[in-house]
Amino acid sequence: MQLLASYLSGSWSQGSGGKSALVNPATEAVLAEVSNGGHDLAAAFAYARDKGTAELGALTFAQRGALLASLAKAIHGAREALIDLAVANGGNTRGDAKFDVDGGAMTLSFYADLGAKLGSTKLIADGEPIQVGRTARMGGQHVWARRRGVAVHINAFNFPGWGLCEKLACALLAGMPVISKPATATALVAHKMMELFAPLLPTGALQMLVGPAGTLLDNVGPGDVVAFTGGSTTARTLRTHAKIVEHSVRLNIEADSLNAAILGPDVDLSSETGGLFIADVVKDMTQKTGQKCTAIRRVLVPADKHADVAAAIAERLGGIQIGDPSLENVRMGPLATAAQAKDIKAGIARLAEATDSIYGGTGDITPVGVPAGKGFFVGPVVRSTKDPMNCAPLNEHEVFGPCTTLGIYDGTAAFASAFVAMGQGCLVSSAYSDDRDWVAAFVGAAAPWAGRLYLGSSKMAAQSPGPGTALPSLLHGGPGRAGGGEELGGERGLQFYMQRTALEGDASVLKSLLG
Ligand code: NAP
Repeated sequence: MQLLASYLSGSWSQGSGGKSALVNPATEAVLAEVSNGGHDLAAAFAYARDKGTAELGALTFAQRGALLASLAKAIHGAREALIDLAVANGGNTRGDAKFDVDGGAMTLSFYADLGAKLGSTKLIADGEPIQVGRTARMGGQHVWARRRGVAVHINAFNFPGWGLCEKLACALLAGMPVISKPATATALVAHKMMELFAPLLPTGALQMLVGPAGTLLDNVGPGDVVAFTGGSTTARTLRTHAKIVEHSVRLNIEADSLNAAILGPDVDLSSETGGLFIADVVKDMTQKTGQKCTAIRRVLVPADKHADVAAAIAERLGGIQIGDPSLENVRMGPLATAAQAKDIKAGIARLAEATDSIYGGTGDITPVGVPAGKGFFVGPVVRSTKDPMNCAPLNEHEVFGPCTTLGIYDGTAAFASAFVAMGQGCLVSSAYSDDRDWVAAFVGAAAPWAGRLYLGSSKMAAQSPGPGTALPSLLHGGPGRAGGGEELGGERGLQFYMQRTALEGDASVLKSLLG
Protein backbone atom coordinates (compact mmCIF):
# COMPACT_ATOMS: atom_id res chain seq x y z
CA MET A 1 0.00 0.00 0.00
CA GLN A 2 1.38 3.42 -0.98
CA LEU A 3 2.00 5.66 2.03
CA LEU A 4 1.74 9.22 0.67
CA ALA A 5 4.59 11.48 1.71
CA SER A 6 4.47 15.19 2.46
CA TYR A 7 6.95 17.55 0.81
CA LEU A 8 8.43 19.60 3.65
CA SER A 9 11.75 21.40 4.19
CA GLY A 10 13.00 20.33 0.78
CA SER A 11 12.38 16.60 1.03
CA TRP A 12 9.65 13.96 1.08
CA SER A 13 8.68 12.64 4.48
CA GLN A 14 6.01 10.06 5.34
CA GLY A 15 5.33 11.17 8.91
CA SER A 16 4.48 8.71 11.64
CA GLY A 17 1.73 7.54 13.96
CA GLY A 18 -1.81 6.51 12.97
CA LYS A 19 -2.89 6.40 9.35
CA SER A 20 -5.90 7.51 7.27
CA ALA A 21 -6.98 5.66 4.13
CA LEU A 22 -7.71 7.30 0.78
CA VAL A 23 -10.36 5.28 -1.05
CA ASN A 24 -12.08 5.01 -4.39
CA PRO A 25 -15.55 6.37 -3.51
CA ALA A 26 -17.24 4.21 -6.16
CA THR A 27 -15.86 0.86 -4.98
CA GLU A 28 -14.50 1.72 -1.50
CA ALA A 29 -11.19 0.07 -2.48
CA VAL A 30 -8.27 1.58 -0.52
CA LEU A 31 -5.91 3.42 -2.89
CA ALA A 32 -3.28 4.82 -0.51
CA GLU A 33 -2.67 5.78 3.09
CA VAL A 34 -1.37 8.87 4.79
CA SER A 35 0.12 9.40 8.24
CA ASN A 36 -1.90 11.54 10.62
CA GLY A 37 1.14 13.42 11.93
CA GLY A 38 4.80 13.16 12.81
CA HIS A 39 6.04 16.08 10.68
CA ASP A 40 8.29 18.89 11.85
CA LEU A 41 6.00 21.74 10.84
CA ALA A 42 7.96 24.42 12.71
CA ALA A 43 10.97 23.51 10.56
CA ALA A 44 8.82 23.77 7.42
CA PHE A 45 7.78 27.32 8.33
CA ALA A 46 11.39 28.27 9.06
CA TYR A 47 12.43 26.78 5.72
CA ALA A 48 9.80 28.82 3.87
CA ARG A 49 10.74 32.01 5.73
CA ASP A 50 14.49 31.60 5.21
CA LYS A 51 14.78 29.99 1.81
CA GLY A 52 11.49 30.54 0.01
CA THR A 53 11.19 34.23 0.84
CA ALA A 54 14.72 34.98 -0.35
CA GLU A 55 14.51 32.88 -3.51
CA LEU A 56 11.18 34.33 -4.62
CA GLY A 57 12.27 37.85 -3.67
CA ALA A 58 15.21 37.59 -6.03
CA LEU A 59 12.82 37.11 -8.96
CA THR A 60 10.80 39.67 -10.89
CA PHE A 61 7.07 39.28 -11.54
CA ALA A 62 7.95 38.17 -15.06
CA GLN A 63 10.28 35.46 -13.76
CA ARG A 64 7.75 34.25 -11.23
CA GLY A 65 5.17 34.24 -14.02
CA ALA A 66 7.52 32.05 -16.07
CA LEU A 67 7.62 29.60 -13.16
CA LEU A 68 3.82 29.42 -13.19
CA ALA A 69 3.91 28.75 -16.93
CA SER A 70 6.28 25.83 -16.30
CA LEU A 71 3.86 24.40 -13.72
CA ALA A 72 0.97 24.63 -16.21
CA LYS A 73 3.14 22.85 -18.78
CA ALA A 74 3.95 20.10 -16.27
CA ILE A 75 0.21 19.56 -15.70
CA HIS A 76 -0.38 19.29 -19.44
CA GLY A 77 2.44 16.74 -19.68
CA ALA A 78 0.92 14.53 -16.97
CA ARG A 79 -2.73 15.29 -17.78
CA GLU A 80 -3.86 11.70 -18.37
CA ALA A 81 -2.27 10.44 -15.14
CA LEU A 82 -3.87 13.31 -13.18
CA ILE A 83 -7.28 12.65 -14.71
CA ASP A 84 -7.02 8.95 -13.82
CA LEU A 85 -6.21 9.85 -10.21
CA ALA A 86 -9.18 12.24 -10.02
CA VAL A 87 -11.49 9.53 -11.39
CA ALA A 88 -10.18 6.94 -8.92
CA ASN A 89 -9.87 9.06 -5.78
CA GLY A 90 -12.47 11.81 -6.34
CA GLY A 91 -15.38 9.88 -7.82
CA ASN A 92 -15.01 12.18 -10.84
CA THR A 93 -16.22 11.31 -14.30
CA ARG A 94 -13.59 12.03 -16.93
CA GLY A 95 -15.36 15.33 -17.65
CA ASP A 96 -15.34 16.26 -13.95
CA ALA A 97 -11.66 15.37 -13.70
CA LYS A 98 -10.79 17.55 -16.70
CA PHE A 99 -12.70 20.44 -15.12
CA ASP A 100 -10.44 20.20 -12.05
CA VAL A 101 -7.11 19.46 -13.75
CA ASP A 102 -7.47 21.72 -16.80
CA GLY A 103 -8.96 24.46 -14.62
CA GLY A 104 -5.80 24.37 -12.50
CA ALA A 105 -3.54 24.62 -15.54
CA MET A 106 -5.64 27.39 -17.06
CA THR A 107 -5.46 29.45 -13.87
CA LEU A 108 -1.68 29.02 -13.66
CA SER A 109 -1.38 30.14 -17.30
CA PHE A 110 -3.58 33.18 -16.68
CA TYR A 111 -1.33 34.34 -13.83
CA ALA A 112 1.78 33.49 -15.84
CA ASP A 113 0.56 36.00 -18.45
CA LEU A 114 -0.14 38.57 -15.74
CA GLY A 115 3.42 38.11 -14.47
CA ALA A 116 4.77 38.81 -17.94
CA LYS A 117 2.70 42.01 -18.06
CA LEU A 118 3.91 43.20 -14.64
CA GLY A 119 7.48 42.64 -15.80
CA SER A 120 10.24 43.77 -13.47
CA THR A 121 8.29 46.27 -11.40
CA LYS A 122 8.83 45.97 -7.62
CA LEU A 123 5.81 47.94 -6.46
CA ILE A 124 2.34 47.89 -8.00
CA ALA A 125 0.48 51.20 -8.06
CA ASP A 126 -2.90 51.25 -6.36
CA GLY A 127 -4.76 54.12 -7.98
CA GLU A 128 -3.44 57.43 -9.23
CA PRO A 129 -1.00 59.85 -7.51
CA ILE A 130 -2.74 62.28 -5.14
CA GLN A 131 -1.79 65.86 -4.24
CA VAL A 132 -1.73 66.00 -0.44
CA GLY A 133 0.22 69.26 0.10
CA ARG A 134 -0.38 72.89 -0.72
CA THR A 135 1.33 72.40 -4.09
CA ALA A 136 1.80 69.49 -6.49
CA ARG A 137 5.30 68.95 -5.02
CA MET A 138 3.84 67.13 -1.98
CA GLY A 139 2.19 63.92 -3.13
CA GLY A 140 0.70 60.65 -2.01
CA GLN A 141 0.56 57.30 -3.73
CA HIS A 142 -0.83 53.93 -2.60
CA VAL A 143 1.28 50.95 -3.59
CA TRP A 144 1.20 47.17 -3.20
CA ALA A 145 4.46 45.73 -1.88
CA ARG A 146 5.59 42.12 -1.44
CA ARG A 147 4.81 40.76 2.02
CA ARG A 148 7.43 38.80 3.93
CA GLY A 149 5.87 35.72 5.42
CA VAL A 150 4.39 32.33 4.61
CA ALA A 151 1.13 31.68 2.78
CA VAL A 152 -0.72 28.72 4.27
CA HIS A 153 -3.27 27.21 1.91
CA ILE A 154 -5.95 24.81 3.19
CA ASN A 155 -8.13 23.30 0.48
CA ALA A 156 -11.45 21.44 0.28
CA PHE A 157 -11.89 17.89 -1.03
CA ASN A 158 -13.85 18.75 -4.15
CA PHE A 159 -11.18 20.49 -6.26
CA PRO A 160 -7.79 19.04 -5.26
CA GLY A 161 -6.15 20.21 -8.50
CA TRP A 162 -7.77 23.56 -9.23
CA GLY A 163 -7.85 24.50 -5.53
CA LEU A 164 -4.11 23.96 -5.22
CA CYS A 165 -3.30 25.87 -8.41
CA GLU A 166 -5.59 28.88 -8.02
CA LYS A 167 -4.23 29.78 -4.58
CA LEU A 168 -0.67 28.91 -5.53
CA ALA A 169 -0.71 31.04 -8.68
CA CYS A 170 -1.56 34.24 -6.80
CA ALA A 171 0.78 33.64 -3.85
CA LEU A 172 3.83 32.70 -5.90
CA LEU A 173 3.32 35.52 -8.37
CA ALA A 174 3.09 37.95 -5.45
CA GLY A 175 6.33 36.45 -4.13
CA MET A 176 5.17 34.54 -1.03
CA PRO A 177 6.31 30.99 -0.30
CA VAL A 178 3.48 28.52 0.21
CA ILE A 179 2.68 25.61 2.49
CA SER A 180 -0.32 23.89 0.94
CA LYS A 181 -2.59 21.36 2.62
CA PRO A 182 -5.03 19.44 0.43
CA ALA A 183 -8.08 17.76 1.99
CA THR A 184 -6.95 14.32 3.11
CA ALA A 185 -9.68 12.21 1.51
CA THR A 186 -8.94 13.24 -2.10
CA ALA A 187 -5.26 14.20 -1.84
CA LEU A 188 -3.91 11.98 -4.64
CA VAL A 189 -4.24 14.60 -7.39
CA ALA A 190 -2.59 17.35 -5.31
CA HIS A 191 0.16 14.95 -4.23
CA LYS A 192 0.91 14.09 -7.86
CA MET A 193 0.99 17.79 -8.75
CA MET A 194 3.45 18.39 -5.91
CA GLU A 195 5.67 15.67 -7.40
CA LEU A 196 5.53 17.50 -10.73
CA PHE A 197 6.07 20.98 -9.29
CA ALA A 198 8.86 20.31 -6.75
CA PRO A 199 11.73 20.08 -9.27
CA LEU A 200 10.53 23.20 -11.12
CA LEU A 201 10.33 25.67 -8.25
CA PRO A 202 12.98 27.56 -6.25
CA THR A 203 13.99 26.16 -2.86
CA GLY A 204 11.29 26.67 -0.25
CA ALA A 205 8.73 28.17 -2.66
CA LEU A 206 6.19 25.37 -2.23
CA GLN A 207 5.74 22.73 0.46
CA MET A 208 2.83 20.36 0.95
CA LEU A 209 1.43 18.74 4.06
CA VAL A 210 -0.54 15.65 3.07
CA GLY A 211 -2.79 14.49 5.91
CA PRO A 212 -4.57 16.24 8.78
CA ALA A 213 -3.57 19.81 9.69
CA GLY A 214 -2.45 18.89 13.21
CA THR A 215 -0.40 21.78 14.62
CA LEU A 216 0.03 23.53 11.25
CA LEU A 217 -1.60 26.79 12.30
CA ASP A 218 0.26 26.96 15.62
CA ASN A 219 3.24 28.11 13.57
CA VAL A 220 1.75 31.18 11.90
CA GLY A 221 3.08 34.59 12.85
CA PRO A 222 3.07 38.25 11.81
CA GLY A 223 3.29 38.67 8.06
CA ASP A 224 1.82 35.24 7.31
CA VAL A 225 -1.50 34.69 5.59
CA VAL A 226 -3.94 31.77 5.64
CA ALA A 227 -6.30 31.04 2.75
CA PHE A 228 -8.93 28.45 3.56
CA THR A 229 -11.60 26.72 1.49
CA GLY A 230 -13.99 24.38 3.25
CA GLY A 231 -16.96 24.15 5.54
CA SER A 232 -18.23 26.90 7.83
CA THR A 233 -17.63 24.85 11.00
CA THR A 234 -13.92 24.50 10.21
CA ALA A 235 -13.85 28.16 9.18
CA ARG A 236 -15.11 29.14 12.63
CA THR A 237 -12.27 27.17 14.25
CA LEU A 238 -9.76 29.02 12.10
CA ARG A 239 -11.21 32.46 12.81
CA THR A 240 -10.73 31.95 16.51
CA HIS A 241 -7.38 30.13 16.33
CA ALA A 242 -5.13 31.59 19.04
CA LYS A 243 -2.17 32.30 16.74
CA ILE A 244 -4.32 33.83 14.02
CA VAL A 245 -5.92 36.12 16.59
CA GLU A 246 -2.64 36.91 18.40
CA HIS A 247 -0.76 37.93 15.25
CA SER A 248 -3.67 39.43 13.26
CA VAL A 249 -2.87 36.89 10.58
CA ARG A 250 -4.71 37.67 7.36
CA LEU A 251 -7.35 35.00 6.83
CA ASN A 252 -9.32 34.47 3.64
CA ILE A 253 -12.31 32.17 3.90
CA GLU A 254 -14.22 30.51 1.10
CA ALA A 255 -17.04 28.57 2.76
CA ASP A 256 -20.61 27.34 2.25
CA SER A 257 -22.91 29.01 -0.23
CA LEU A 258 -26.60 28.80 -1.06
CA ASN A 259 -26.33 30.00 -4.65
CA ALA A 260 -29.60 30.94 -6.34
CA ALA A 261 -30.68 30.84 -9.99
CA ILE A 262 -33.68 32.91 -11.08
CA LEU A 263 -35.70 32.61 -14.24
CA GLY A 264 -36.91 36.04 -15.38
CA PRO A 265 -40.63 36.49 -16.13
CA ASP A 266 -39.88 37.37 -19.77
CA VAL A 267 -38.18 34.06 -20.61
CA ASP A 268 -39.86 31.38 -22.66
CA LEU A 269 -38.39 27.95 -21.91
CA SER A 270 -38.05 27.21 -25.63
CA SER A 271 -35.85 30.30 -26.11
CA GLU A 272 -32.04 30.32 -25.99
CA THR A 273 -32.14 31.94 -22.57
CA GLY A 274 -34.63 29.35 -21.29
CA GLY A 275 -32.46 26.53 -22.69
CA LEU A 276 -29.38 27.98 -20.99
CA PHE A 277 -31.23 28.16 -17.66
CA ILE A 278 -32.30 24.49 -17.76
CA ALA A 279 -28.86 23.37 -18.94
CA ASP A 280 -27.09 25.30 -16.15
CA VAL A 281 -29.37 23.92 -13.42
CA VAL A 282 -28.87 20.33 -14.60
CA LYS A 283 -25.13 20.82 -15.10
CA ASP A 284 -24.69 22.20 -11.59
CA MET A 285 -26.62 19.30 -10.08
CA THR A 286 -24.62 16.60 -11.84
CA GLN A 287 -21.15 18.00 -12.63
CA LYS A 288 -18.83 16.85 -9.83
CA THR A 289 -21.99 15.20 -8.42
CA GLY A 290 -23.10 18.63 -7.26
CA GLN A 291 -19.97 19.08 -5.13
CA LYS A 292 -19.13 22.55 -6.41
CA CYS A 293 -19.16 25.49 -4.04
CA THR A 294 -20.62 27.54 -6.90
CA ALA A 295 -23.40 25.08 -7.78
CA ILE A 296 -27.02 26.24 -7.97
CA ARG A 297 -28.81 25.10 -4.80
CA ARG A 298 -31.97 27.25 -4.95
CA VAL A 299 -34.02 27.93 -8.07
CA LEU A 300 -36.76 30.52 -8.46
CA VAL A 301 -39.26 30.38 -11.32
CA PRO A 302 -42.44 32.38 -12.09
CA ALA A 303 -45.46 30.40 -10.85
CA ASP A 304 -46.88 29.90 -14.37
CA LYS A 305 -43.63 28.26 -15.55
CA HIS A 306 -43.07 25.94 -12.59
CA ALA A 307 -44.60 22.82 -14.14
CA ASP A 308 -42.68 23.21 -17.41
CA VAL A 309 -39.37 23.87 -15.64
CA ALA A 310 -39.87 20.85 -13.36
CA ALA A 311 -40.67 18.64 -16.34
CA ALA A 312 -37.70 19.88 -18.38
CA ILE A 313 -35.22 19.32 -15.53
CA ALA A 314 -36.65 15.90 -14.73
CA GLU A 315 -36.43 14.85 -18.38
CA ARG A 316 -32.75 15.84 -18.58
CA LEU A 317 -31.87 14.14 -15.30
CA GLY A 318 -33.63 10.96 -16.40
CA GLY A 319 -31.10 10.59 -19.23
CA ILE A 320 -28.05 10.71 -16.97
CA GLN A 321 -26.32 7.42 -16.20
CA ILE A 322 -25.01 7.21 -12.61
CA GLY A 323 -22.35 4.78 -11.45
CA ASP A 324 -18.65 3.98 -11.53
CA PRO A 325 -17.18 7.13 -13.12
CA SER A 326 -14.43 5.17 -14.84
CA LEU A 327 -17.08 3.73 -17.18
CA GLU A 328 -17.41 5.63 -20.45
CA ASN A 329 -21.20 6.10 -20.48
CA VAL A 330 -21.47 7.17 -16.83
CA ARG A 331 -22.21 10.90 -16.48
CA MET A 332 -22.37 11.20 -12.69
CA GLY A 333 -20.23 9.47 -10.09
CA PRO A 334 -20.47 9.02 -6.31
CA LEU A 335 -19.95 11.60 -3.59
CA ALA A 336 -16.30 11.90 -2.59
CA THR A 337 -16.60 10.41 0.88
CA ALA A 338 -18.91 8.36 3.06
CA ALA A 339 -19.33 11.39 5.35
CA GLN A 340 -20.42 13.50 2.37
CA ALA A 341 -23.02 10.94 1.31
CA LYS A 342 -24.37 10.78 4.88
CA ASP A 343 -24.52 14.59 5.17
CA ILE A 344 -26.36 14.89 1.87
CA LYS A 345 -28.90 12.25 2.80
CA ALA A 346 -29.50 14.11 6.06
CA GLY A 347 -29.84 17.41 4.17
CA ILE A 348 -32.36 15.90 1.74
CA ALA A 349 -34.36 14.44 4.64
CA ARG A 350 -34.45 17.89 6.22
CA LEU A 351 -35.63 19.46 2.96
CA ALA A 352 -38.23 16.71 2.58
CA GLU A 353 -39.95 17.88 5.77
CA ALA A 354 -40.71 21.26 4.17
CA THR A 355 -40.82 20.61 0.41
CA ASP A 356 -42.46 18.38 -2.21
CA SER A 357 -40.65 15.84 -4.35
CA ILE A 358 -40.23 16.61 -8.05
CA TYR A 359 -37.54 14.11 -8.96
CA GLY A 360 -35.38 11.46 -7.32
CA GLY A 361 -37.23 11.03 -3.99
CA THR A 362 -34.61 10.94 -1.26
CA GLY A 363 -31.72 10.06 -3.57
CA ASP A 364 -31.67 6.26 -3.36
CA ILE A 365 -30.31 4.74 -6.58
CA THR A 366 -28.72 1.59 -7.94
CA PRO A 367 -25.48 2.73 -9.59
CA VAL A 368 -24.15 0.92 -12.65
CA GLY A 369 -20.84 -0.97 -12.67
CA VAL A 370 -20.46 -1.01 -8.89
CA PRO A 371 -20.33 -4.03 -6.54
CA ALA A 372 -23.65 -4.37 -4.68
CA GLY A 373 -23.83 -2.21 -1.57
CA LYS A 374 -20.58 -0.38 -2.34
CA GLY A 375 -19.89 3.27 -3.06
CA PHE A 376 -21.02 6.62 -1.70
CA PHE A 377 -23.87 7.21 -4.14
CA VAL A 378 -26.80 9.60 -3.94
CA GLY A 379 -28.93 10.21 -7.03
CA PRO A 380 -30.06 13.65 -8.26
CA VAL A 381 -32.92 15.08 -6.22
CA VAL A 382 -35.23 17.97 -7.11
CA ARG A 383 -37.57 19.34 -4.46
CA SER A 384 -40.17 22.10 -4.71
CA THR A 385 -41.75 24.72 -2.47
CA LYS A 386 -44.58 27.22 -2.94
CA ASP A 387 -43.14 29.44 -0.22
CA PRO A 388 -39.39 29.76 -0.93
CA MET A 389 -38.91 32.80 1.34
CA ASN A 390 -40.10 30.96 4.41
CA CYS A 391 -38.59 27.55 3.70
CA ALA A 392 -35.96 27.36 6.46
CA PRO A 393 -34.13 24.19 5.35
CA LEU A 394 -33.74 25.68 1.87
CA ASN A 395 -32.34 29.02 3.01
CA GLU A 396 -30.28 27.88 5.97
CA HIS A 397 -28.52 24.66 5.02
CA GLU A 398 -26.22 23.84 2.10
CA VAL A 399 -26.77 20.34 0.71
CA PHE A 400 -23.35 19.86 -0.91
CA GLY A 401 -24.42 17.34 -3.55
CA PRO A 402 -26.78 16.66 -6.47
CA CYS A 403 -29.82 18.33 -4.98
CA THR A 404 -31.70 21.49 -5.88
CA THR A 405 -35.03 23.02 -4.89
CA LEU A 406 -37.48 24.96 -7.05
CA GLY A 407 -39.49 27.80 -5.55
CA ILE A 408 -42.17 29.91 -7.19
CA TYR A 409 -42.31 33.70 -7.21
CA ASP A 410 -44.27 36.64 -8.58
CA GLY A 411 -41.72 37.48 -11.29
CA THR A 412 -40.59 40.76 -9.74
CA ALA A 413 -36.92 41.72 -9.49
CA ALA A 414 -37.60 42.79 -5.89
CA PHE A 415 -38.67 39.26 -4.91
CA ALA A 416 -35.80 37.71 -6.86
CA SER A 417 -33.13 39.84 -5.18
CA ALA A 418 -34.71 39.37 -1.73
CA PHE A 419 -34.50 35.61 -2.34
CA VAL A 420 -30.79 35.88 -3.15
CA ALA A 421 -30.38 37.79 0.13
CA MET A 422 -32.13 34.97 2.04
CA GLY A 423 -28.98 32.90 1.45
CA GLN A 424 -27.17 35.34 3.77
CA GLY A 425 -24.28 35.84 1.37
CA CYS A 426 -23.32 33.59 -1.53
CA LEU A 427 -20.45 33.02 -3.95
CA VAL A 428 -22.57 33.44 -7.06
CA SER A 429 -26.18 33.82 -8.05
CA SER A 430 -27.64 33.93 -11.52
CA ALA A 431 -30.54 35.56 -13.28
CA TYR A 432 -31.78 34.55 -16.74
CA SER A 433 -33.56 37.33 -18.57
CA ASP A 434 -33.47 39.39 -21.75
CA ASP A 435 -35.34 42.28 -20.13
CA ARG A 436 -32.64 44.87 -19.35
CA ASP A 437 -34.80 46.91 -16.97
CA TRP A 438 -35.61 43.79 -14.93
CA VAL A 439 -31.90 42.82 -14.88
CA ALA A 440 -30.85 46.32 -13.75
CA ALA A 441 -33.36 46.27 -10.89
CA PHE A 442 -32.21 42.78 -9.88
CA VAL A 443 -28.49 43.55 -9.97
CA GLY A 444 -28.81 46.71 -7.89
CA ALA A 445 -30.55 44.88 -5.06
CA ALA A 446 -28.83 41.46 -5.27
CA ALA A 447 -25.19 42.56 -5.68
CA PRO A 448 -24.52 43.15 -1.96
CA TRP A 449 -25.35 39.49 -1.29
CA ALA A 450 -23.19 37.81 -3.92
CA GLY A 451 -19.51 37.75 -4.83
CA ARG A 452 -20.47 37.27 -8.46
CA LEU A 453 -23.70 37.75 -10.42
CA TYR A 454 -24.08 35.73 -13.57
CA LEU A 455 -26.50 37.24 -16.06
CA GLY A 456 -27.76 34.62 -18.50
CA SER A 457 -29.24 35.91 -21.73
CA SER A 458 -29.71 35.02 -25.38
CA LYS A 459 -26.73 37.17 -26.43
CA MET A 460 -24.18 35.21 -24.37
CA ALA A 461 -25.81 31.77 -24.19
CA ALA A 462 -23.63 30.22 -26.90
CA GLN A 463 -20.35 31.05 -25.17
CA SER A 464 -21.31 30.81 -21.50
CA PRO A 465 -19.33 28.54 -19.12
CA GLY A 466 -22.28 28.70 -16.67
CA PRO A 467 -22.34 30.20 -13.17
CA GLY A 468 -20.56 27.18 -11.69
CA THR A 469 -17.21 27.97 -13.32
CA ALA A 470 -14.90 30.28 -11.35
CA LEU A 471 -12.77 32.25 -13.81
CA PRO A 472 -9.32 33.59 -12.91
CA SER A 473 -10.21 37.00 -14.32
CA LEU A 474 -13.24 37.43 -12.03
CA LEU A 475 -13.50 37.44 -8.25
CA HIS A 476 -14.24 34.18 -6.47
CA GLY A 477 -15.64 34.57 -2.97
CA GLY A 478 -18.70 35.97 -1.32
CA PRO A 479 -20.02 37.85 1.70
CA GLY A 480 -21.60 36.48 4.87
CA ARG A 481 -22.23 32.73 4.87
CA ALA A 482 -19.81 32.31 1.92
CA GLY A 483 -16.98 33.35 4.24
CA GLY A 484 -16.45 37.01 3.34
CA GLY A 485 -13.39 36.13 1.24
CA GLU A 486 -12.08 37.11 -2.18
CA GLU A 487 -9.75 35.12 -4.44
CA LEU A 488 -8.70 35.52 -8.08
CA GLY A 489 -10.14 38.49 -9.99
CA GLY A 490 -7.02 39.10 -12.10
CA GLU A 491 -4.51 41.41 -10.39
CA ARG A 492 -6.85 41.67 -7.38
CA GLY A 493 -5.92 38.08 -6.55
CA LEU A 494 -2.38 39.21 -5.65
CA GLN A 495 -3.52 41.77 -3.09
CA PHE A 496 -4.17 39.25 -0.32
CA TYR A 497 -0.49 38.31 -0.57
CA MET A 498 0.80 41.90 -0.68
CA GLN A 499 0.83 44.88 1.67
CA ARG A 500 -0.95 48.07 0.64
CA THR A 501 1.19 50.97 1.80
CA ALA A 502 0.49 54.68 1.44
CA LEU A 503 3.62 56.57 0.38
CA GLU A 504 3.79 60.27 1.18
CA GLY A 505 6.52 62.62 0.00
CA ASP A 506 8.07 64.47 -2.94
CA ALA A 507 5.80 63.68 -5.89
CA SER A 508 8.76 63.17 -8.24
CA VAL A 509 10.32 60.62 -5.85
CA LEU A 510 7.03 58.75 -5.63
CA LYS A 511 6.83 58.69 -9.41
CA SER A 512 10.37 57.35 -9.75
CA LEU A 513 9.67 54.58 -7.20
CA LEU A 514 6.98 53.24 -9.51
CA GLY A 515 9.36 53.32 -12.45
P1 NAP B 1 -13.76 20.90 5.68
O1 NAP B 1 -14.09 19.69 6.42
O2 NAP B 1 -13.97 22.21 6.32
O3 NAP B 1 -12.24 20.73 5.24
C1 NAP B 1 -11.59 21.70 4.46
C2 NAP B 1 -10.12 21.64 4.73
O4 NAP B 1 -9.86 22.05 6.06
C3 NAP B 1 -9.51 20.26 4.59
O5 NAP B 1 -8.24 20.37 4.02
C4 NAP B 1 -9.41 19.80 6.03
O6 NAP B 1 -8.41 18.84 6.25
C5 NAP B 1 -9.04 21.09 6.70
N1 NAP B 1 -9.27 21.13 8.13
C6 NAP B 1 -10.20 20.49 8.85
N2 NAP B 1 -10.10 20.83 10.15
C7 NAP B 1 -9.06 21.71 10.25
C8 NAP B 1 -8.46 22.41 11.32
N3 NAP B 1 -8.90 22.29 12.56
N4 NAP B 1 -7.41 23.22 11.06
C9 NAP B 1 -6.96 23.37 9.81
N5 NAP B 1 -7.49 22.72 8.75
C10 NAP B 1 -8.54 21.90 8.96
O7 NAP B 1 -14.55 20.99 4.32
P2 NAP B 1 -14.68 19.89 3.19
O8 NAP B 1 -15.60 18.84 3.70
O9 NAP B 1 -13.36 19.50 2.65
O10 NAP B 1 -15.37 20.75 2.06
C11 NAP B 1 -16.76 20.90 1.97
C12 NAP B 1 -17.18 22.30 2.24
O11 NAP B 1 -16.32 23.21 1.60
C13 NAP B 1 -18.55 22.57 1.71
O12 NAP B 1 -19.33 23.04 2.76
C14 NAP B 1 -18.37 23.66 0.67
O13 NAP B 1 -19.35 24.61 0.70
C15 NAP B 1 -17.07 24.25 1.01
N6 NAP B 1 -16.40 24.68 -0.20
C16 NAP B 1 -16.30 26.02 -0.45
C17 NAP B 1 -15.66 26.46 -1.58
C18 NAP B 1 -15.51 27.92 -1.87
O14 NAP B 1 -14.75 28.28 -2.76
N7 NAP B 1 -16.20 28.79 -1.18
C19 NAP B 1 -15.08 25.55 -2.45
C20 NAP B 1 -15.21 24.22 -2.17
C21 NAP B 1 -15.86 23.78 -1.03
P3 NAP B 1 -8.74 17.27 6.29
O15 NAP B 1 -9.30 16.91 4.97
O16 NAP B 1 -7.41 16.68 6.57
O17 NAP B 1 -9.74 17.09 7.39
